[in-house]
Amino acid sequence: MSGSSGTAAVVEATPVDSGPGAGDWAAAESLLRNLSPDARVLLVCHVNPDGDALGSMLGFALGLRRLGVRAMQATFPGPPEVPVPFQGLPGLDLLVPATEAYPDPDLVICFDAASESRLGELVDRLDTAGASLVLDHHASNTRFGGVNLVDPHAAATSVVAEQLLTRLGVGLDAGIAECLYVALTTDTGSFRFEATTPAVHHLAARLLATGIRPGDISRRVFDTRPFGAVRLFGEVLGRARLEPAPAGGRGLVWTWATLDDLARHDQRPYVLEALIDSVRCTAEADVSCVLKQTAPGEWAVSLRSKGAVDVSRVALALGGGGHRFAAGFTGRGTAEEVVDRIRGQLDDAVIPPAAP
Ligand code: 5GP
Ligand code: MN
Repeated sequence: MSGSSGTAAVVEATPVDSGPGAGDWAAAESLLRNLSPDARVLLVCHVNPDGDALGSMLGFALGLRRLGVRAMQATFPGPPEVPVPFQGLPGLDLLVPATEAYPDPDLVICFDAASESRLGELVDRLDTAGASLVLDHHASNTRFGGVNLVDPHAAATSVVAEQLLTRLGVGLDAGIAECLYVALTTDTGSFRFEATTPAVHHLAARLLATGIRPGDISRRVFDTRPFGAVRLFGEVLGRARLEPAPAGGRGLVWTWATLDDLARHDQRPYVLEALIDSVRCTAEADVSCVLKQTAPGEWAVSLRSKGAVDVSRVALALGGGGHRFAAGFTGRGTAEEVVDRIRGQLDDAVIPPAAP
């Protein structure tokens, strides 16, 4: 079913830049409204899931449950390990390991994945499922679903998920709202990033109105980590390097964490996700980078920019993807070799000044 479905075939392609068109919304609604009572629905989010991936998927799943969908699974590729910060999310009872996911669901719905490669071993479901629907907000999204709701202006995939739930007549409850709130706060950096529009705050207000507790949620998701991780951060930040020259003189700051670092401090890989937020504070560099070792000679690379550099260009050139100011890819070789490749892309990724 990859790339087409009976419903989508009649819908004119909508340029990704402009977000979903009326035909896309109608096709998505029709897929969900016309599910048979015993239809099996598989929800999938991207590998190494973050708050938006899990939150938009589980929030939408809880909404589908309210619509009457009974046979439903949520999953993600790779080890079935939910990062501790997300272990309190409502809807986790729907989660199954990738190995147990329906092999041939009637409908597969993908969340926060810009391309098929982000679905890992679950990518085959795009072919085995009766129909496929993609919800996402990456400008680089390849529209790999039969029906695609891709809005690059949306602050998070959860914004798209909430819009679809509203169109389906599913109102918010506290469970759905908590999931969507975690997603929204994750991708907006707790309402600090550029995508934090008035509409984002309106959505946040509606989510909070269900009675969810933002203090508790933020403490759990963003402000809690084991003492071992605090000490690990100290070490990893202590070895950070600042280079003024890359990106046409806008500067690069970077550091790395190895599997041995994790083992010495008895920590799980998820704790490293927050590292980039400490590194990107560096005033002297526009671009920041953290390399997280995933296997010998293999690194999950996080890139951030303060606004002068389109780091998604760097990530795309090196086999990954992402947003203009937050992107990533899998790097191979030594940390120094991977950073060398990044340096080589940075000059071309500087955003030209806007025409007067
Ligand atoms: P993070 O640095 O938080 O892992 O990821 C930042 C953004 O970059 C994510 O929202 C995601 O869009 C993108 N990203 C990170 N790693 C990869 C990757 O390996 N491949 C692709 N295609 N995108 C990635
Ligand atoms: Mn996202």
